Amino acid sequence: MRMRVHPTFPVRTRFAPSPTGVIHLGSIRTALYNYLLAKNTGGSFILRIEDTDQKRKIKGSEENIYQSLKWCGLIPDESPMIGGPYGPYKQSERKDIYKKYAEILVDKGLAYYCGCSKDRLNDLRQSAMKLKPPTTVTYDRKCFDKPSDKSLGGIIRFKSPVTYPSITDLIHGTKNIQPQYNVDDRRYDDFVIMKSDGLPTYHFANVVDDHLMKITHVIRGEEWLSSTPKHVALYEAFGWEPPQFVHIPLLTSLSDKKLSKRDGDDGILSLRDTYLPSALINFIALFGWAPARDSGQSFDETMDLNTLIERFSLDHLTRGNAKVSKDKLGYFNKRHLQSLDDKEFTKLCEDVKSKYSLQGEVGDFLKKILPHITTLDEISNYTHLFKPIYTSDVPENCREVLLKILNDEKFGLDDMLKISSKKDVFKSLRYALTGLPKGLKVPEIVDLLGPQEIEKRINNAIHYIDNL
Ligand code: GLU
Repeated sequence: MRMRVHPTFPVRTRFAPSPTGVIHLGSIRTALYNYLLAKNTGGSFILRIEDTDQKRKIKGSEENIYQSLKWCGLIPDESPMIGGPYGPYKQSERKDIYKKYAEILVDKGLAYYCGCSKDRLNDLRQSAMKLKPPTTVTYDRKCFDKPSDKSLGGIIRFKSPVTYPSITDLIHGTKNIQPQYNVDDRRYDDFVIMKSDGLPTYHFANVVDDHLMKITHVIRGEEWLSSTPKHVALYEAFGWEPPQFVHIPLLTSLSDKKLSKRDGDDGILSLRDTYLPSALINFIALFGWAPARDSGQSFDETMDLNTLIERFSLDHLTRGNAKVSKDKLGYFNKRHLQSLDDKEFTKLCEDVKSKYSLQGEVGDFLKKILPHITTLDEISNYTHLFKPIYTSDVPENCREVLLKILNDEKFGLDDMLKISSKKDVFKSLRYALTGLPKGLKVPEIVDLLGPQEIEKRINNAIHYIDNL
């Protein structure tokens, strides 16, 4: 049995995306787990923008991060937008802080300025590749002799330890990850911490910020596991306590291929027209975590954000790669559509009204439609029901059929069929009720609208035809 690792104190977690693209399923899951852990323990969830790699920055990406979190309801307690006690929360605005901490390491003899030219570094890289076995550890420590010689330029390297410390991860346990050296041509893994543009590298900024922002738990994707020894070495160099690390498995589609655009790899905001955020969050939460259950007992997998917060525990994270099945997302969407609270329902009404340019009250119809749909885009099959728009393309005998229906005061379908041919009734009714020649089956429409609305629409249609 795994040791219990779920914290019992208010933790500080962070989501630290780089603005290099849009937020997709994998990154929103990272944000979600950090959010759930913070909220479950009564702690704080911090958003930090890691924008030190100016070349990889993509326009609009930062905005996409804010919007994606907002849509999912994962509102940070501290962020570049709202600030907080440990700001600024955007790394490009923290240059002086990194400079100060890099100098501290230089003064301790644990970092040094490096003036090697690009060409020299390139040659070193190539010669390292030719070694047998080849190595990606390439630098020869040429500049280590004059560690604080600022005239060499702005690049500062970390003096990496001979052996990296083992790391402890709450899912993976203790790991000893060392770079591959070539014993005959010893090179050093002295990675750059400050670049010539005055900005820090990811590793350095990440460690300095997690420490200064008092982060207690780092939940991030498994792809960062191999960087963690570098981070822990930096914590040790400063004499700081590292946070707890939790590296969560990759997210893959069922076929193990990259998720297709429609599956949210194009950015989760592209799913807004199809799924409710609560359904998406529910779906994502279960990729790598399952709520505790008493043995033999089933549990309801459909959970809103508050239930997820309540049930979330680091003790029930799973280790394997999580596979995405879109059917399950549809299932959750249907379930969540059936249990919208007043606020969510009002929001949906507003969205539907603006998306389909509808005027007036849509709530009553929407309530009737919801049990029939799985995804939100299916609402488009029903929009003609909100308000029929009549055209001069009137079916034959329409007026007569409609009058008969009205005068007989019979709006049950069976009764209607007694008074005219099935085809005529259906065509005329479809016209009166929707204004369209095609669409949902007439009995379905009759069922959705109800007798009062049917009567109103038949009168409207007759009135329209009379004025043609
Ligand atoms: N900026 C990194 C990213 O884009 C953060 C990794 C981490 O959480 O340490 O994923």
